[in-house]
Amino acid sequence: MPADTLGPASRVPPDSPALRRVQAGDLCAGCGGCASIAPDKLRMALVEPGFLRPVQSAPLSPVEEDTIAAICPGLGQRVEDAGRTPSVLWGPYLEMQTGWATDPDLRFAGSSGGALSMLLCHLLETGAVDGVIQTAAAPQLSIGNGTVLSTRSEGVLAAAGSRYAPSAPLEGLHARLTASPAQRFAFVGKPCDVAALRALQEQDPGLAARVPVLLSFFCAGVPSLRGGLEVLAALEAPYQDTVAFRYRGNGWPGYATATLADGTTRQMSYHDSWGRILSRHVQHRCKICADGTGTAADLVCADAWEADEKGYPLFDEQEGVSLIVARTVKGQQILAAAQAAGRLETAPFDPTILAAIQPGQRERRRALLARLAGLRVCGRPVPDYRGLTLKAAAAQNPLGRNLRNFFGMIRRSLRRKPGRPRLFTLPSGSSHD
Ligand SMILES: Cc1cc2nc3c(=O)[nH]c(=O)nc-3n(C[C@H](O)[C@H](O)[C@H](O)COP(=O)(O)OP(=O)(O)OC[C@H]3O[C@@H](n4cnc5c(N)ncnc54)[C@H](O)[C@@H]3O)c2cc1C
Ligand code: SF4
Ligand code: SF4
Repeated sequence: MPADTLGPASRVPPDSPALRRVQAGDLCAGCGGCASIAPDKLRMALVEPGFLRPVQSAPLSPVEEDTIAAICPGLGQRVEDAGRTPSVLWGPYLEMQTGWATDPDLRFAGSSGGALSMLLCHLLETGAVDGVIQTAAAPQLSIGNGTVLSTRSEGVLAAAGSRYAPSAPLEGLHARLTASPAQRFAFVGKPCDVAALRALQEQDPGLAARVPVLLSFFCAGVPSLRGGLEVLAALEAPYQDTVAFRYRGNGWPGYATATLADGTTRQMSYHDSWGRILSRHVQHRCKICADGTGTAADLVCADAWEADEKGYPLFDEQEGVSLIVARTVKGQQILAAAQAAGRLETAPFDPTILAAIQPGQRERRRALLARLAGLRVCGRPVPDYRGLTLKAAAAQNPLGRNLRNFFGMIRRSLRRKPGRPRLFTLPSGSSHD
């Protein structure tokens, strides 16, 4: 088989109407939810320019088709306030605080204050769950990700830190649960991963009992592996010689760090790695994401950046501080218990400053309605968002900015049509499947 094809059994485009719509609109977020539902018919493959996408090899049953249509975040998402504090930009919540892990190793290793990892350690150490399904560096692909099951705090520490690369933590979920029938798990994923899992749980209450805690983080988008390779190139770190790669963490915000086979390291600031390179490689679905803040999770962590006198976030290296958002009563109880156990130190947070310290999230939410309208005008499929306050967010934008986003999306959409997926190829010439 030539290195850049998806294999003889692959159905490209897919037979599945749901997946065909996703592919036609380039709407896949790469969560792996569909592959978890029909693992013998769908697998996640790395396709150019380095995103995880489902590849179909056999027809889906009507039940599989309906389930995918109901849970795929590329097709849509639904959010309900359900008595919580509503928020146009940030989604419904019960409580927001800032905080950090009292364990200094976890605080240092985490992307911001290690709060998310500390909450996971708390869940494991109190026996609330038997394991954590989360994302860590892939063993064979230094710039890529793999899904891991952490059953001890050491595993959580090893997986701490944001990895700005594709992850599909839902792929293999059902197989994992079947393999450990008596165990309960916490799940960490991007907001879209968690939205898909929450929707799956609505269809299957047994799944809610097996995975009782869902955690997420604010998410500006997933860059392709070509973006990761561009960071390596800027660091003059040849891919073949790079044995380990950290996107962030080990400090706040922490440096993008390549470790070479000879033991030397090359580093780049977060401002340069994310701001100048990775953010330009983000997938299309992320540019029209209505939920970069994890509305479906019990608990969400983010960077509690400090702001300068003009309100812009500061990226100077310092001791990490996470924003912690409890979205459910369960999340609130876990947060309170971790505080009481001395695992987290916290401070009150004023939600009115969030728009200033998260400008990327703010602007994307405000621009979303105009971007979706631009895509609709071009006849491109868009996700069906319900309860995500698109109009109220757009009303916070001046008309001129909405028009710029509307016409900008039309221009981009006319320039770039989704093509036939090709397997991702590494610089060594080997394809990675
Ligand atoms: C793609 C991406 C975009 C982000 N965008 C923003 C943003 O716009 N604003 C913001 O404030 N924060 C953003 N973050 C989150 C932020 O970097 C921190 O994760 C957050 O501040 C929590 O820090 P922490 O120290 O509490 O978490 P940590 O203790 O570092 O824990 C991080 C957790 O995230 C998991 N994880 C890491 N990478 C991935 C991945 N690719 N897919 C799934 N799970 C992963 C790890 O398994 C770990 O459990 C983003 C993170 C990612 C991965
Ligand atoms: S977004 Fe998730 S469920 Fe939808 S097609 Fe992509 S991987 Fe499958
Ligand atoms: S920006 Fe939205 S769609 Fe993209 S990875 Fe993050 S949560 Fe998923």
